[in-house]
Amino acid sequence: MGRVLPFGALSKRSGVARRLVLSAAAKINLALEVLGKRDDGYHEVATVMQAVDLSDRLVIEDAPVLELRVSAPDVPSDGSNLVVRAARALQAAAVVSRGARITLDKRIPVAAGLGGGSADAAATLVGLSRLWGIRWPAARLAELAATLGTDVRFFLHGGAARGTGRGERIEPVAGAALALVLVNPGVGTSTSTIYGGVTPAMYSDGSHVRQMVAALRSRRPARIAASLYNALERVAAPAHRQVAQMEAALLAAGALGAAMSGSGLTVFGVARSFDHARQIRARVARGSWTCWAVRALRGPAIRIGRER
Ligand code: ATP
Repeated sequence: MGRVLPFGALSKRSGVARRLVLSAAAKINLALEVLGKRDDGYHEVATVMQAVDLSDRLVIEDAPVLELRVSAPDVPSDGSNLVVRAARALQAAAVVSRGARITLDKRIPVAAGLGGGSADAAATLVGLSRLWGIRWPAARLAELAATLGTDVRFFLHGGAARGTGRGERIEPVAGAALALVLVNPGVGTSTSTIYGGVTPAMYSDGSHVRQMVAALRSRRPARIAASLYNALERVAAPAHRQVAQMEAALLAAGALGAAMSGSGLTVFGVARSFDHARQIRARVARGSWTCWAVRALRGPAIRIGRER
């Protein structure tokens, strides 16, 4: 346990920021396998996650109590928001008596398989650690992150990483300079509903993830595209015909390969270059679909700027 931080004194001594601007990047799953079901009811997964440059923005300011404002009407700003849960968890674990005013500008679509809520939680941990002058070792922050959600730990790393267990055991892997196109159908889905539809026939042995790790090491977009895999598509696609439609549109527009991210329904296509990704995006954009040309991030998923 930490101690109560004398915020004013700390502020003068070490130049602690009073206002921080952070970006919290989304992730895609380049490969996602379900290995089996555990005794605790959760599925054992193996995945390769990749941070991409589609980001939420958080402004964190010094304030006596915790407050959250959110730009998106469909995202709660109460205690159920992962930002508030992360802030309260850090406040309690580090015994901090200060609060913070947090403004969350959502750009990552919600309930879309892109880990937006988890990215925001990771950004909150990083930002508030800075604001409150908490200097924990990375491993301690990662431990707290794992209590908030499966993907939160990944976002403290960023880049490309293999995830095992429920996805919370993270091991960085070599990434490639990938350009991608994301397509979101404007309809959300719930992770627990999708996992609820998984049957043993969908289990595999981790070989797709091993293949993707090798493909990333080769840095060849065509090999990476040929190694895309997501077991959850077999649950999501029959229930949501947009998944197959979006993938077909990406391939018809020139993508080297396409797959769904996480529990969906966002799908992504692999391009030869960023210019190619922009061409594909222009060809695919239609109706209620929202499309982005993005780059894989080699560095951190959470980036911190400072505004005084
Ligand atoms: P998962 O991490 O389960 O794959 P996802 O990426 O598909 O999730 P999120 O955008 O993280 O989905 O949102 C899942 C749910 O979490 C939403 O229905 C939303 O109400 C709730 N939620 C809580 N906090 C946030 C947040 N900061 N941003 C978005 N959604 C949030």
